[in-house]
Amino acid sequence: MQRRGVVFSGAMILVLAIGIWLTTSDAQDSENNVPTTTSINAETPLEPIVIPISLYLLEDAGDEETAFSTRRSVEEVEEILVGMNDIWSQASIELQPRFIGTIQVPEEILRQIAQGNFTPFYNATATIIDVPQPGMINGFYAREIGGANGITPGGIGSRTFFVMDDPTVHDRRVSSHEVGHILGLHHTLESAERLLFPGTNGMTLTEEEIVVARYVAQGMLDRQR
Ligand SMILES: [Zn+2]
Repeated sequence: MQRRGVVFSGAMILVLAIGIWLTTSDAQDSENNVPTTTSINAETPLEPIVIPISLYLLEDAGDEETAFSTRRSVEEVEEILVGMNDIWSQASIELQPRFIGTIQVPEEILRQIAQGNFTPFYNATATIIDVPQPGMINGFYAREIGGANGITPGGIGSRTFFVMDDPTVHDRRVSSHEVGHILGLHHTLESAERLLFPGTNGMTLTEEEIVVARYVAQGMLDRQR
């Protein structure tokens, strides 16, 4: 199993030696290059898996200036998604936006979310809260979520996560970490560099995690068909 860097240099030499036709495969190789890990087998580039995602900013239905409305802007959340796709490109998983925008939530339900109680919100999404165009993964951005940076209330295998306004680590990392849980990944305490290490800015995925996340992501897509 050769490392990508080695294959790339080898291709460069071959291009010089035997002609232009190799530049095509060389270009494809560069496109699939991943910034954060060098250990994926370059000879079998991962097929991209595209997962629809929707991201919602939770605003107070009565008064958007209350303490419980998110202070984030749609542009900010769009930028977070760009960062998430940087991180998830390690696994060749693309989170494709289906909806990014604000939803109105009754103040009492936002108050419950702020205390870490998500049940009233989930119950209300079936009735009084309109959640337009849900994706296969759905993220909710709230002012406070009970003290955590981010949380996937349903645990591994659920489809929804919450992120607070002022996490102690990078926004893109918090959201990507929660997506990791949704894609079947558990916490690790092995290295703070890892995406699944709790409470750090670690962003790397191991080859094993990539295999699991892709398997779960593909399963989600297959079940939808
Ligand atoms: Zn976690």
